[in-house]
Amino acid sequence: MISRSIIVVALLAMSAPAPATEPSLRPGGLAIIEIGGAKAPAPDAKLGDTPLLVMRRGEHWVTVVGIPLDTDPGELLVTIGGEPRVVQVSEHAYREQRLTVENKSFVTQNQEQLDRIWSERKIIDAALNHYREVPVDGLSLAAPIPGTQSSSFGYRRFFNDQPRAPHKGMDIAGNSGDPVVAPRNGVVAATGDYFFNGNTVLIDHGRGFVTMYCHLSEIAVESGQPVTTGETIGAVGATGRVTGAHLHFGTYLNGTAVDPAIFLE
Ligand SMILES: [Zn+2]
Repeated sequence: MISRSIIVVALLAMSAPAPATEPSLRPGGLAIIEIGGAKAPAPDAKLGDTPLLVMRRGEHWVTVVGIPLDTDPGELLVTIGGEPRVVQVSEHAYREQRLTVENKSFVTQNQEQLDRIWSERKIIDAALNHYREVPVDGLSLAAPIPGTQSSSFGYRRFFNDQPRAPHKGMDIAGNSGDPVVAPRNGVVAATGDYFFNGNTVLIDHGRGFVTMYCHLSEIAVESGQPVTTGETIGAVGATGRVTGAHLHFGTYLNGTAVDPAIFLE
């Protein structure tokens, strides 16, 4: 009986939405680690060779670690000031999603399309991994559009029964043409019309915290442009590999996709 109630409590805890910018120690979640008093300079924090976001919280420096979706449950090692620190990653079963798409080139690509995808991947990865040394004073994000937010982050996806990369963002319902706004101050890291993502905007919020907006009908900003919270960056659309108009909203730390629900106010 006791063990049964523990299981029930654990299941309830897993299904409860995480409050904004609290740790969520699962693949696709984040860890927040105190790394020293804020009176001393911040030590450097890394996951492998990738610099981690470091920010001040009260009297301490903390590092915020994006936990990659493909992390096995158990110990994840990060390096703080040259010393190893362990993050305990819990298990999380993401749902399976099966989609049928009619445009076959969105499932299997020819060489020309693969070349295009590869060159776009390099641009997107460079934006996602950009580390801009500016103070970060928080991680909470306003909703980029007001629509219903799905819990589709992390879905293990199959297109026409073929396994593809997991879903690395949240899909938000919206109509074509609805304005999409910056959820926090930042600088536009890249914009483009990409094969899978369609018209896309990436915003750099500092120290490896990057947000991504896909399938836009219009892009209203240019690479390098500063944006402030609430400023229009584009409009909802159905460009790229989609089954209908919606906003794909991605949030990244240390180059890894983290569940946007963790940051939304
Ligand atoms: Zn999506």
